[in-house]
Amino acid sequence: MMLAREWVAVADQRTGLGWLATQLWGERVLIASAVFVGFMMWLAGLHLGWVSFAVLLLVIAGLMRLERRAAGAATARTMAVPAAPVVEPAPAADDLTAISAVLGALDAPALLVSARETVKLQNRAAEGIFGAIPQGSDLAGRIRAPGILDMVRDAIGSGQPRETEHAERLPSETVYVVRIAPLAGPTTEPLWLLTFRDVSQARRIDRMRSDFIANASHELRTPLASLRGFIETLQGPAKNDVKAHERFLGIMHEQATRMSRLVDDLLSLSRLELRSNLVPDQTVDLVPLLGHVRDSLQPLAGDLGVEIALDLPSHPVSVPGDRDELVEVFENLIENACKYGQEGKRVDVTLTGGTEGVPAEFSVTDYGPGIPPEHVPRITERFYRVNVEASRSKKGTGLGLAIVKHILTRHKARLVVKSEVGKGTVFTVKF
Ligand code: ADP
Repeated sequence: MMLAREWVAVADQRTGLGWLATQLWGERVLIASAVFVGFMMWLAGLHLGWVSFAVLLLVIAGLMRLERRAAGAATARTMAVPAAPVVEPAPAADDLTAISAVLGALDAPALLVSARETVKLQNRAAEGIFGAIPQGSDLAGRIRAPGILDMVRDAIGSGQPRETEHAERLPSETVYVVRIAPLAGPTTEPLWLLTFRDVSQARRIDRMRSDFIANASHELRTPLASLRGFIETLQGPAKNDVKAHERFLGIMHEQATRMSRLVDDLLSLSRLELRSNLVPDQTVDLVPLLGHVRDSLQPLAGDLGVEIALDLPSHPVSVPGDRDELVEVFENLIENACKYGQEGKRVDVTLTGGTEGVPAEFSVTDYGPGIPPEHVPRITERFYRVNVEASRSKKGTGLGLAIVKHILTRHKARLVVKSEVGKGTVFTVKF
């Protein structure tokens, strides 16, 4: 059965009578009260006239209106109290959204931390390091480095920004400068921004630079010390020893030549670094060029008792490149093969490809002692030598392969080293 309230609602929607029905339903308490008061008076023997009854009705209506208005105000007041927490956090949520958008645009890992050391937000870069951290998790549960946690605590306690350095060993050595700073913003809750700046690359370059200076000065200091020693001997004890003069001057000449070789190689490296971004604009045919390199190395190979066997194609093999630089590459590689693979007595030089769709490939093979596998990845580093004394005795500076690598990088070519201890080494240049 339809209830009166439902009927009124339906009538309200469907007919013009609905308005009247709604009004009557709204005043139902007033009508019921008037009927009740009239009935009680009739029971008490007070027979009111229609006018008196209407006045009574108006008085009751007035009283009820007053009461309803007061109740309305009271309800509004009660509603205002819970409204505060519902309305207030909205801007805070908006702030978090805005902060999240800013953090998302940063490529450095960043976390938003509360004063209770819980994680409020993290950006994608931070997710990459720490995994997804659920909002509200303890920072200490995810970041275990005591140095960072102490710094966070100190910063939150003091209200001041703090910075520390943190190194990760895995998956590769990475050094971060970790910084925490209070977020001076519109959020009602105090929040802290924790950022991680990767400084590994800068540190590596710093280390390389200082290693390079240390190595270069060490390499120069050794022949210099030797020169000074011989000069003092010639000035002092061997002053009148003509035979010693001759011998010492020969050694001094050797040391001075070593120094100038080293300076030449250093200058060559620095020139290459300056030009590293310039792509060579000449085209060089490698066939005659390799013939020329072999000829220039023939005297050295002869002295060492090594035969250089050249296997060149009958067609030209042209590559885009700088002629002088390519000569330097091939000279270095073939000279090394003759020097370090001397006991194999033979060095094979081959050139293949260079036709339509087949890239040019140069290789030099020696049958010497080979290079132990742990050294192979490092031999193109500046001053890296498998055996320093062996290199020095062969007039090496430790810079030859570093120069080769630089030149090949500029020529967009690759150097591949394959070596087997006791069998020999193959250096391949893939253009
Ligand atoms: P260096 O001036 O000492 O020859 P390089 O940079 O040319 O410097 O070579 C670096 C080191 O690599 C050499 O000292 C040597 O130990 C090793 N090496 C280079 N080529 C060969 C090779 N063909 N066989 C064995 N070892 C080699």
